[in-house]
Amino acid sequence: MGLALDKAAIIQLLERIAFLLEYQGANPFKVRAFANAARALQNRPESLEELVSPGKLEEIEGIGKSIAGVIREAANTGTCKEYEELRQQAPEGFDELIKIPNLGPKKLRALVENLGIRTIADLENACREGRVAKLPGFGLKSEEKLLAGIEQIKRFAGQWLYAEALDYALRIRDTLERLPAAIAVAPAGSLRRCKEIVRDLDFVVASETPEEVIQAFVTHNAVVRILSQGTTKASVLLQNGMQADLRVVDQESFAAALQYFTGSKEHNTKLRGRARKMGYRLNEYGLFETSSSSSEDEPADPLAGRRLSLASEEELYGALGLQYIDPELREDMGEIEAAEEGKLPALVRLEDYRGVLHCHSTWSDGRTSIAELAEAAMVEWKWEYLAICDHSQVATYANGVKIEDLRRQHAEIDAINRKLQPRGFQVLKGCECDILADGSLDYPDEVLKAMELVVVSVHSRFQMSEEEMTERLIRAIRHPYADILGHVSGRLLLARDAYAVDYQRIFEVAAEWGTIIEINGDPNRLDLDWRLCKRAKEMGIKFAVNPDAHSREGLANVKYGINVARKGWLEPADVVNCLPLEEFKSLIHKLRKRKLEKLK
Ligand SMILES: [Zn+2]
Ligand SMILES: [Zn+2]
Repeated sequence: MGLALDKAAIIQLLERIAFLLEYQGANPFKVRAFANAARALQNRPESLEELVSPGKLEEIEGIGKSIAGVIREAANTGTCKEYEELRQQAPEGFDELIKIPNLGPKKLRALVENLGIRTIADLENACREGRVAKLPGFGLKSEEKLLAGIEQIKRFAGQWLYAEALDYALRIRDTLERLPAAIAVAPAGSLRRCKEIVRDLDFVVASETPEEVIQAFVTHNAVVRILSQGTTKASVLLQNGMQADLRVVDQESFAAALQYFTGSKEHNTKLRGRARKMGYRLNEYGLFETSSSSSEDEPADPLAGRRLSLASEEELYGALGLQYIDPELREDMGEIEAAEEGKLPALVRLEDYRGVLHCHSTWSDGRTSIAELAEAAMVEWKWEYLAICDHSQVATYANGVKIEDLRRQHAEIDAINRKLQPRGFQVLKGCECDILADGSLDYPDEVLKAMELVVVSVHSRFQMSEEEMTERLIRAIRHPYADILGHVSGRLLLARDAYAVDYQRIFEVAAEWGTIIEINGDPNRLDLDWRLCKRAKEMGIKFAVNPDAHSREGLANVKYGINVARKGWLEPADVVNCLPLEEFKSLIHKLRKRKLEKLK
């Protein structure tokens, strides 16, 4: 039996209970108990299914008996009495209001009591009228900050990170797949195309009995509201506010419907144009022969004409004289032209991936030890090597490793390697070295030289002019021991914009000096942007797909990074993580040698 919430949702629920208790002025011990329980859950590697098994939660330090009950109730029903009661007494716009940065429970209380704030719109008005600044404990500065926070929320409303959307999509897909009435089930839309930001979910299901499928969809435990429900389609609102649409079709239409609802719009427009020129009409029901080639308009009956029998999307593209186009590529970036010539790339796959680079351990701000990360990389993921790249000394906010501690870290890695090398696995000594404001690196050359892999990244001073930032990155790229340029744009999706930088120049210099460009798989980053990968590849750049993991679970970020690489037209030969260990090492060696020679 599936659970109604996932682990992240349970953690969020506990945090919200803590917030609401504090908002109500409840006993601080009770507030802390819920906050601690949320943190305790976050630090457990087990799945939620394991955690809610009898007696398990009670063994965890920081989770008492009554909170264990709350967690089980929420896991099974999707919510809990404690939260629902507290929520009743909070302002109606609470779910939005708590997303505003720097707005804690006590401040929210003051705003509600003194200014009658109910929603984010109320708060925005009050700020604009200067009423918030006059409240005791607020002031002009905090008014400005609240306004900026509201702006940000409004800007990103209706958008979700790919990883969050995927979680919901898989839960719904699994339910639909279990239905005997469902012949085929597929998530479509931008999620299937692996877009970094998703606005809604689309599902296409083939079935002879659509009512049964629709009923299962609208009653799914992730659904909070039905927006519309018909005989072949339905729309619902999910727990996180995202909309999901379902379309049920007959089996003959499935391939065409899946193609149609996968998009993108631009790709489909081109494909329909191509079909028309070949004497066909392509729509969500299928590919039809047209009687007269002159009529470009859709006939009144979308099923008019002889329908070609197409068992799959492969057959659909084939009927149009094209190679099969992977969903990730359907963005009208030249894929139809390439498919026509049979020149589509053989996209990199997770199975091609051999070595994981750029992971943080407990030596800096990671939550998992080096030994545990290595074990997971080797046993769970079947990878051959893993580079530990903890933060460098200037990164005090992330507990950066001091030079005098590196010796001990390296000794620890040597000891782990003595155990793992006989099993065909190796941990590499690396670092994520900060690029300082002037483009120099945060460790001296002799320290970097001793590293088997150096990722260089910007973590501070984002507000520079484009010229300054470009020069800063170029200086770093040319550094003889800067092997990989990490998260190039610095963006945090739905939170922080990329800094201004001249990508053309960056790619030119990286290509000239051989510096590898990172595709950071952290779902909040997905940086380098896929739109830039194809151009960089054409300029001769190699890429490293890195999880930037800060925990054992974070290793799974590789999957998101591979999505970006695929979307960016990359093949295994473009991705250095696909190299066997010895070849990877010799690549880094050659790269450094080449740079040192250029610098002479
Ligand atoms: Zn970083
Ligand atoms: Zn990192």
